[in-house]
Amino acid sequence: MRFGEKVTCPKYDREKVEPGIVHIGVGNFHRAHQCVFVDDSLSLPGHESWGYRGIGLMPADAKMRDVLKEQDMMFTLWQKGTSFESVRVIGCHSDFILAPESPEKVLDALCAAETKIVTMTITEKGYFVDFTTGKLDSSAPAVSSDLEALKSGSASLKTALGYLVAAAKRRQAEKAPGFVILSCDNLQENGCKAKAAVLEMAGEVDSGLKAWISENVQFPNSMVDRITPATTEEVKTELKEKYGVEDGWPVVSEEFLLWVVEDKFPSGRPSWDKSPSGKCLFVEDVLPYELLKLRLLNAVHQALAYPASLLGHEVVHEAMADSRVFKFLKAYMAAAGQTVRPVKGLKKDEWSKTVLERFSNPAVRDTIFRLNEDATNRIAVALAPCLQEDAVPPGRSLSRKHLAAILLPVACWIRALVGGAELPAAAKLNRDDKGESMRGPAGEAWEKADGSEAAEASKKFLHSAFGEKVARDTVAEVLAESLKLLKGEGVEALLR
Ligand code: NAD
Repeated sequence: MRFGEKVTCPKYDREKVEPGIVHIGVGNFHRAHQCVFVDDSLSLPGHESWGYRGIGLMPADAKMRDVLKEQDMMFTLWQKGTSFESVRVIGCHSDFILAPESPEKVLDALCAAETKIVTMTITEKGYFVDFTTGKLDSSAPAVSSDLEALKSGSASLKTALGYLVAAAKRRQAEKAPGFVILSCDNLQENGCKAKAAVLEMAGEVDSGLKAWISENVQFPNSMVDRITPATTEEVKTELKEKYGVEDGWPVVSEEFLLWVVEDKFPSGRPSWDKSPSGKCLFVEDVLPYELLKLRLLNAVHQALAYPASLLGHEVVHEAMADSRVFKFLKAYMAAAGQTVRPVKGLKKDEWSKTVLERFSNPAVRDTIFRLNEDATNRIAVALAPCLQEDAVPPGRSLSRKHLAAILLPVACWIRALVGGAELPAAAKLNRDDKGESMRGPAGEAWEKADGSEAAEASKKFLHSAFGEKVARDTVAEVLAESLKLLKGEGVEALLR
């Protein structure tokens, strides 16, 4: 790795850092978010024991492992605001273990005496939870294989849950203290979900282990926020030309950086809240912040993705410059905002304005295709809950116009599920296994959209995608109307 001038490098002594934190899922987001807080904290007095060690569970993570090891575990973060940019080298990671090659080493790291916290970004799919029921997906081959391995004491595990349960089992047997598992994925109540999944898996193995985890392992909820696009070859070239930095896998992000963390760390924690680079709030209850973000940021990504891709857009900031999309998103946020309660320290109107500015940032060059990744899970988690009867606080209600705004992206998503040669590339399914199973109900809703069974078919679709609470008669009727308009007159008419 070559450093250029104008590039900030770690100010602490990397030799003295110990890995008190393990991260599972060293992807781009982790490197642009949690690593900044950890890297900043390592310059604080008494923080040498709060460095990072990384774990990759997927065979494809070998590429990240190889690049990072080649660079002495350092990488470049290129932060691009609308009027500001900075390039910094992050040095908080000291090792990377690839689970499929070295499962025992993963367990050793998770059980090491110095490991107090395990953070993770494993994507929604990595939890193996059916988000409509909240239950562990025991039918998934990786889960059943891990249950077998846990029962037989084999270390050849496949899921993050399996490794966490195995680590807890070893800690319990060694009478070692518990640890903190801090999910950093975009999931509502991510800590509670991780806890439920880990406990369900542990319970299948040994009820005593389940009880030990309940008592000794903490699962704080956390809300993460920073847009981090996938790294392109152009980014690498531009970084070298502009800053003289040669990096095999740099990461680009916007300037905005927020982390709201439930303060549940019985064995101590680093002072991430002292970071000069971003805002980290340790709070008692993360839920109100999560709801604001899920409904007025994550869901807005989903609201943007399918309508914009049907219009032929491929890049997020270009779609934002299209007034048809921009105006729709304002209407979408006004509707979804009805379901959001006030939170301390963040104003809803300002938040919405900042979100539209962040999406319009041309420097980030986020692609719409990326936003579509795993869309079926993401729409179910972020957008669909706004459609439940109990989503609005007492005294407020969602009009049919509000419902139409929230359902517009769902109608466009159905169109994308129907597929066909004329579908723009950006609207195609992206690593969306669950989407494949939705093609049947989507096809039926689309087919029947202009007939007498339209509302019934839409209701069936809503039921399979989002469950009973969303599949209400009014919601189904509005969705059927939107599908009819989309089918008959196209996406532009629907947006109008
Ligand atoms: P990425 O593709 O760069 O990295 C994905 C990481 O997840 C990889 O390390 C991979 O090994 C791991 N992973 C994938 N499937 C897994 C599984 N089944 N089990 C265990 N690990 C698995 O993606 P990213 O941009 O780093 O995003 C990762 C997650 O971060 C997202 O799913 C989201 O929850 C969260 N996030 C991302 C952003 C963003 O803008 N990119 C913003 C907020 C939150």
